[in-house]
Amino acid sequence: MSADIIDGKAFAAKLTQTIGDAVANVMGSGAPQPALAVVLVGEDPASEVYVRNKIKTTEASGMLSIEHRLPDTTSQTELLALIDQLNHDNAIDGILVQLPLPDQINADAVIDAITPDKDVDGFHIVNVGRLWAGLPSLVPCTPFGSLLLLKDTLGDLSGKNAVIVGRSNIVGKPMAQLLLAENCTITVAHSRSKDLPAICREADILVAAVGRPEMIRGDWVKPGAVVIDVGINRIPAPERGEGKTRITGDVHFEEASQVASAITPVPGGVGPMTIACLLRNTLVAASRRHGYALPADFE
Ligand code: NDP
Repeated sequence: MSADIIDGKAFAAKLTQTIGDAVANVMGSGAPQPALAVVLVGEDPASEVYVRNKIKTTEASGMLSIEHRLPDTTSQTELLALIDQLNHDNAIDGILVQLPLPDQINADAVIDAITPDKDVDGFHIVNVGRLWAGLPSLVPCTPFGSLLLLKDTLGDLSGKNAVIVGRSNIVGKPMAQLLLAENCTITVAHSRSKDLPAICREADILVAAVGRPEMIRGDWVKPGAVVIDVGINRIPAPERGEGKTRITGDVHFEEASQVASAITPVPGGVGPMTIACLLRNTLVAASRRHGYALPADFE
């Protein structure tokens, strides 16, 4: 079998266009321009790239993007003061603090300080609790983007066996809850799981969010399964020249694509969906704050 490639880049472009149309619509009806504040502390090169892409895509969708760049010597008190100011700024609908933060700042304290209504990453404990309780919330972008790709590929997910490898708060756990809400039967595997290959072979839907390059091999995949590779790992690529690197996922793509029915590539799979879902969350946050309706599929 040769798997269909799930084109996250194309799907994200379509979603971004839909969001842009919705933004134009609500602004045409007199709503204020939805606005995202992006906070970057320090000069981590990967974070710089992520932030640049987030700002570019936000602006392309017609929303306002306001960047706050702080030096890596910023104290936690200074960052919390900025969050407090953004929480109270009525023109701001979403607040994103790019992680990781420098060592002197406790990321949990910062996430906790963002008002849940503007928490477009969906990391605040109130949004976590609301997601688990099945209440409207702001949902973490990467798992939500993965879910959209799965629904587009499979349609109804009811009754599917879903195995999620990884249990982080930002990917694995919310992914589990989103798939449970779609009536999947869920297994969450992690570093202490016994016989991981056998667990993975039970999966109709296999989500890899581990952070270990190409760990999931072809013979771990059930024939016909749909594989979502969340991993982003930079590895040496001597074949491209000395000192060169390339990005790879947590799944061995060449092997798994011989067995799966559909698979996301890395790059070009889940990654672009993360940014599109950030825009979606910003628009949803704006609509709730200002009390206007969005098309039904946004909720
Ligand atoms: P974390 O490091 O927070 O979590 C990794 C998880 O994998 C942990 O639950 C860990 O288990 C588990 N794990 C580690 N090693 C093994 C192993 N040998 N066997 C089984 N389980 C293992 O990572 P994240 O969830 O933040 O990210 C996961 C991957 O997704 C990374 O590659 C990251 O770069 C990528 N990512 C991609 C995004 C995108 O936009 N596409 C966004 C966010 C992340 P335990 O809990 O027991 O330690």
